[in-house]
Amino acid sequence: MKIYNTLSKRKEEFVPLEEGKVKMYVCGPTVYNLIHIGNARPMIVFDTVRRYMEHRGYQVNFVSNFTDVDDKIIKKAIEEKVDASVISERYIAECKKDMQAMNVKPATTHPKATEEICGMLDMIGTLIEKGHAYMAQDGTVYYRTRSFKGYGKLSHKNIDELQGGNRSLLVTGEDQKEDPLDFVLWKPKKEGEPYWESPWCKGRPGWHIECSVMSKKYLGEEIDIHAGGEDLIFPHHENEIAQSEAANGKPFAKYWMHNAFLNIDNRKMSKSAGNFFTVRDISEKYDLQVLRFFMLSAHYRSPLNFSSELMEAAQNGYERIVTSVANLNYLMENAASDTMSEEERKLAKEAEEYIAKFDEAMDDDFNTADAIAAIFELVKFANTNAGDASGREFLQALKEEIVMLSDICGLIVEKKQEMLDDDIEALIEERQAARKEKNFQRADEIRKELLDKGIILEDTREGVKWKRA
Ligand code: AMP
Ligand code: ZN
Repeated sequence: MKIYNTLSKRKEEFVPLEEGKVKMYVCGPTVYNLIHIGNARPMIVFDTVRRYMEHRGYQVNFVSNFTDVDDKIIKKAIEEKVDASVISERYIAECKKDMQAMNVKPATTHPKATEEICGMLDMIGTLIEKGHAYMAQDGTVYYRTRSFKGYGKLSHKNIDELQGGNRSLLVTGEDQKEDPLDFVLWKPKKEGEPYWESPWCKGRPGWHIECSVMSKKYLGEEIDIHAGGEDLIFPHHENEIAQSEAANGKPFAKYWMHNAFLNIDNRKMSKSAGNFFTVRDISEKYDLQVLRFFMLSAHYRSPLNFSSELMEAAQNGYERIVTSVANLNYLMENAASDTMSEEERKLAKEAEEYIAKFDEAMDDDFNTADAIAAIFELVKFANTNAGDASGREFLQALKEEIVMLSDICGLIVEKKQEMLDDDIEALIEERQAARKEKNFQRADEIRKELLDKGIILEDTREGVKWKRA
């Protein structure tokens, strides 16, 4: 499995730190508003990376944070005259709803910055002790950027050029910095802002320190993959490396992965530019599976331009897979025989080629565009070779392959038909009648039929009760 590493600017063979395990950290959103579909790109992309790793047998510890203390959150809280936590908790809940609707798995841990202040105080203390940070007169703690020899290695920037080009970094209120390149680890509170006690001043953390601390706490000092959108390479990830490696004395992350932007009219979609659609906006017009399909139809390192034409194409593509699976299900119900014929056995073997093609594409730095092309080839193969005369076992094998590959992409392609309450009640009555006649085989069949459709029966003293799974 090859991964493009921003650190080396090359595709490298993936070798985990610990056999069979992957420790992965993805920078999550700042929660002050509904997420837009630009924010959704890293969520979908790295969820797919995780799913593929799991498919390949790795146990993935996946950590993704919520930044819940930030200027924009505080501004909104002041506008609404509520506590900052009311804003962040509201948008964390909304973000989780969107993630679920896009079939993005919950992380193993979703830490929040405000719950990790202790760890931040510890790491800042260590950095001061080691000479990598200092306190200015007003209690602000700065990272001494030039003290870290590797600074610039991720963004491939030369520290001296940075200094030359960034004189303006020395902004008002930061004139106590030793060097314009130094960045904030801890800053004094302002009137009306949330704050925490610290050895330096009552205040709150700078943005970068939270990820170094959470990554260490939940994954350890060295991790396999650190990921996020490409706008995070500099300064956020560069600063994270400086903090973690200086504090721990160890390399931080082995592989750095960054997704390219989701654009609109060839400009980055962003809250500040106002050129965005929220995931919620899109859900009013499309099934969010279509959004997921659209995101994966391009390689994650290629810019992707959002347009209604491309969304229509994604809808057609997604529906082609859904229709093929529905057709296979229909044929299975009416199959001529249970087992595969000799001819079908050969065809089933042939179909496995498409799984190999899919894996090959994903092994090449998660080329989801080619992986989806392999699913389409399999769909075409199934549509050509499955017919009225096919054996159920053959149809089932084809269906399971399509569903499995789609599931690795997080695409739900088998629509479970919801049973109507009346139909459920009718089957339960038939089951009761069968039991009265001691036809337990039929009674069991009905229980299983309902279970397959997600209906669970419970025999209680008051009679049969049912619920949806
Ligand atoms: P933010 O809430 O701005 O910190 O962003 C959360 C995540 O979304 C980060 O990984 C960003 O890099 C990513 N992101 C924001 N805008 C876009 C975009 N237009 N395209 C791709 N990724 C984005
Ligand atoms: Zn981060």
